[in-house]
Amino acid sequence: MRKIPFLDLRVDDKERTCLLAAVDAVFRHGRILLGPEVEAFESALAVNVGRRFAVGVNSGTDAVYLALRALGIGPGDEVITTSMSWIATANAIALTGAAPVFADVEDNLNIDPESVDRLLSPRVKAILPVHFTGSVCNMPALMALATRHQLLVIEDVAQAYGATLDGKPAGSFGTIAAFSMNPMKVLAACGEAGAVVTDDVETRDRLIALRYNGTVNRETCIEPSHNGRLDTVQAAILLQRMKTCSALVARRRAIAALYRKLLYNIVKTPVERLGHHDVYYNFTLQTPHRDELRLFLESRGIETKIQHPILMPEQPAYSGRYRGEYSHAKELVKHIMCLPVHEKLSDEDVCYVAQCVVDFFKGGKNA
Ligand SMILES: *Cc1c(COP(=O)(O)O)cnc(C)c1O
Repeated sequence: MRKIPFLDLRVDDKERTCLLAAVDAVFRHGRILLGPEVEAFESALAVNVGRRFAVGVNSGTDAVYLALRALGIGPGDEVITTSMSWIATANAIALTGAAPVFADVEDNLNIDPESVDRLLSPRVKAILPVHFTGSVCNMPALMALATRHQLLVIEDVAQAYGATLDGKPAGSFGTIAAFSMNPMKVLAACGEAGAVVTDDVETRDRLIALRYNGTVNRETCIEPSHNGRLDTVQAAILLQRMKTCSALVARRRAIAALYRKLLYNIVKTPVERLGHHDVYYNFTLQTPHRDELRLFLESRGIETKIQHPILMPEQPAYSGRYRGEYSHAKELVKHIMCLPVHEKLSDEDVCYVAQCVVDFFKGGKNA
């Protein structure tokens, strides 16, 4: 039987040669901590996202956390975020001492600006939208709200490097934006990695201090922080992978288009709205028969995932402690499941997966 893994993180031969050479260059020059590749990666990222500055950090979680710290978010503040994301988003807010407020989502699984509006209060200092599954949120509506109420906007771009809305890159809309380049993401390091982008020079300087124990000139500590520097070897790998990332996104988009063509009248597939260029970090189906479909696909050798099965406000660490409204998210989270969409899938693999989904529903289920 054919085996279709959800992800395949092996590095193929052609890429391995290129990555090994990039890593070898770091070994030779020996500037292992914050070496030249970190700066080169930061410059390249800033250019790609259309920002003045990027600061490399050691994970996406740290990127969100340090972005909030750099903007002065802390105890007594509230930050409105989505209820549907990887828990790192809420953790980053809570770790600053601020309180997350959980907004509802739209059918496309992204934060609903109307819900954000309903949750505003005098304590709310910022909105933290997550471009979930690799699709940009309704940023025009969110930025209009932020301007009207003088709120900061922190974009969580962990799942959406390369996505755009009306030609504007994810990460170029808000006050500041946080990226993850962990091995599962579309632009992936071979270990933990992340970055923050901003146009403001003081925010950039504060981020540089915060990512290294709150120090300036490596010795004088101006505020407590931890060590969150981006690893030079990972930066060297990311610089190489940035060059091939748009081809990789094109492949993911082609796979998504093929799934859509084969499944559009069978099950609810993600819709790419006008003006959006999505990167398909995930290809998320919505069906009330989610659990049976997953079991059926597993029996056909196909690995699927639910990203993420527990809403952030319903995690034991958060449940009952914070404000929010998320009744639509509560319904949707029971129906979501992700098909494999990684770039190593062949068209044959994709047709096989789609055919198995068709077989499942033709066996008597109604999507
Ligand atoms: C992956 C992810 C993060 C955290 O990134 P790490 O690099 O794993 O720390 C944060 N937010 C979202 C939405 C993510 O998907």
